[in-house]
Amino acid sequence: MTGNAWQARHRFFVDQPFILGAPCSLDPIARQLATVLRLAPGQTIIAINGDGREVLVELQSVTSRSAAGRVIDQRPCAGDPTRDLILFQCSLKQDKFEWVLQKGTELGVTRFVPVVSARSVVRPAVALHKKYDRWQAVIREAVEQCGRSRLPLLAPPIEWPALALPQDCHGFVAWEAADGAPDLATAVAALPLAADVTRPGIALLIGPEGGLTAEEVAGAAAGGWQVVSLGPRILRAETAALAAVTMALAAAGKFGA
Ligand code: SAM
Repeated sequence: MTGNAWQARHRFFVDQPFILGAPCSLDPIARQLATVLRLAPGQTIIAINGDGREVLVELQSVTSRSAAGRVIDQRPCAGDPTRDLILFQCSLKQDKFEWVLQKGTELGVTRFVPVVSARSVVRPAVALHKKYDRWQAVIREAVEQCGRSRLPLLAPPIEWPALALPQDCHGFVAWEAADGAPDLATAVAALPLAADVTRPGIALLIGPEGGLTAEEVAGAAAGGWQVVSLGPRILRAETAALAAVTMALAAAGKFGA
């Protein structure tokens, strides 16, 4: 299949198997195809289902209620991250957390863990479950838009005492009051990270708007998280999350992958 066939402008996450040469149902996205994008049989879209491939689908039938296509080509998805990057983000007010999910997905976060800490305004952890459908949709749309195929995992929300550094991960807790701590980029660059493996992963812990308490930071350090700085300025939590993700991936030499 020539490269320009892959110039299909539209990418959709559709949770179903795609088999090369076989027909496939596109009913879950029929309305978008027919009425929003007004696509017609013969045109192509790119479909992803989280298995690490992108498939090229030629539309066979399109109505607002039903759509079908045929898988005419497939390829590995170049946009999937190649390093596990887990963002432990303390809960944030209003749509800030959605913003972190969307931008974190674009940047390459592979797992999001919502955390309720002492100064979290949005609490308790169980109250966050009602946001999960919306949060999953934000993640899926970001995956479609940015050219990934695998959805980052949205882990269940945890209360601070349940915080634990995941196995086979280097953990970093960002603290603006960390006198003399290395900056995150320097700390990650010092890790013995082999280039061609996803593990060990990198785990980042960012506080809420009100910040982490000194006791929380001490507890995290005792649990194996390295205390790091994100620079001399106080960043908003949502800024800190994305600055940390960017610094870590760049320092790990993975920003291009
Ligand atoms: N204590 C802050 C203040 O005085 O406004 C509030 C916390 S800050 C808005 C939210 C989170 O971002 C912090 O808990 C920390 O994880 C991270 N953060 C912000 N700036 C940072 C910096 N310069 N170094 C390390 N972490 C930072």
